[in-house]
Amino acid sequence: MSDASFESTGLSPELTANLSTLGYHTMTPIQAMSLPAILSGKDVIGQGKTGSGKTAAFGLGLLQKLDVKLFKTQSLVLCPTRELADQVASELRRLARATHNVKILTLCGGVPIGPQIGSLERGAHIVVGTPGRIDDHLRKKTLRLGSVTTLVLDEADRMLDMGFQDTIDDIVDCISTNRQTLLFSATFPREIESIAERVMLDPITVQAPSTHDEETIKQAFHQVSDAQSRMIALRLLLAKHSVNSALVFCNTKRDTQDVADELNDWGFYALAIHGDLDQRERDQALIQFSNKSIPVLVATDVAARGLDIDSLDLVINYHIAHDAETHVHRIGRTGRAGSSGIACTLYSNREMHKVDALELGVDSEKYSDPLPSESLLDKPVKKPLMATIKIDGGKKQKLRPGDIVGALTGDGGIPGDSVGKINVSSNWSYVAVQLNLVKPALKKLSSGKLKGRSFRVRLVS
Ligand code: ADP
Ligand code: MG
Repeated sequence: MSDASFESTGLSPELTANLSTLGYHTMTPIQAMSLPAILSGKDVIGQGKTGSGKTAAFGLGLLQKLDVKLFKTQSLVLCPTRELADQVASELRRLARATHNVKILTLCGGVPIGPQIGSLERGAHIVVGTPGRIDDHLRKKTLRLGSVTTLVLDEADRMLDMGFQDTIDDIVDCISTNRQTLLFSATFPREIESIAERVMLDPITVQAPSTHDEETIKQAFHQVSDAQSRMIALRLLLAKHSVNSALVFCNTKRDTQDVADELNDWGFYALAIHGDLDQRERDQALIQFSNKSIPVLVATDVAARGLDIDSLDLVINYHIAHDAETHVHRIGRTGRAGSSGIACTLYSNREMHKVDALELGVDSEKYSDPLPSESLLDKPVKKPLMATIKIDGGKKQKLRPGDIVGALTGDGGIPGDSVGKINVSSNWSYVAVQLNLVKPALKKLSSGKLKGRSFRVRLVS
């Protein structure tokens, strides 16, 4: 990997010449690691942070392979939102500008389908689009994927977050298994592994190197004297770190509810999950936390098991775990997927032996880190990023994530990147939208039609 020049990869001279006019003189790390494999025709999974140059990595691959004289759709790129699809399409156009007559078409929801059908009749070599709209065209038979040789899933983690898994599976079924499949993602939750297993063949995984002090969990231990100082310590730590997602562990279900109630009294946005909640309440709380409309979740170890979140910003052990294994499991929920994490543990004098049991190799006394200054108690509490809207319709009513995105972002709607996670269950769905856009989002959903009918929608508070 010493030679990071594009020439070294065997890329066509016209593509390489154009790259230098774009100021791309050397490959970025993810490009250097993935491009040779992509050009050799292998299936590749690429993991790299935003801005690492993933678009050119797959874009050059599909352009090199493109047969301009064959006027059929040869590459399909799936993106989570219209904005991202537009960005990908414009980067592809820049990369393709030295090659004559390459037709790149974007097909996304939120705009009328008619003109898209017209463009499709004129043909396109490369189609970039969102899963919902691509699927609509496949159902209408206005898009044919029989000649596709490269399928790209860009920002796959976000697509799965938005609930596009089933739609993606349907689209993949329309493409020859002889294809090359490329998957790019910033994070690597379990669902990515499972979709990769279903749609890819012997993929090579490349991961852009992250600088070495990321991926580590910064641990702090704070000694507290009584219940009151424990709560103050919790408030101080939440105020200091001011993160979008913090998980607070308690050892009993009683405590989780008390701690969440008290946090709410202090103005925080917190929910508790424990064994006494019914399934629906539990699911709803987990959804609200994972879609970032509730920043603080207070849980017991057992209740937190159902939490499927790739990376948390902050874990606070309100009560230190009973044993080292549980402690490691708790704090391991932060600092995943190349991001940094913080884990703070509160303990009293009586719980000192539990700190010792962690065998941190240091005198536990030394582990009492100072707490943030009490002036932070006056700091305004961080508001959630998103809000959750519940729709009284789901899979049984044939509602798909794409329908919800379409209804929200369609003519005069809210921008696609303000739509967060979508969860569709049998009879209802949840969609997260940016907090400041709740009103227009509710209006859009309740006045418009979803699958030709109106569903009851409401804000989950
Ligand atoms: P990602 O999809 O990984 O978030 P992008 O593909 O959008 O990242 O690329 C981020 C930016 O880096 C874009 O502005 C792109 O034009 C630029 N870029 C990509 N590859 C190179 C390169 N080899 N040299 C210089 N700039 C590059
Ligand atoms: Mg990208």
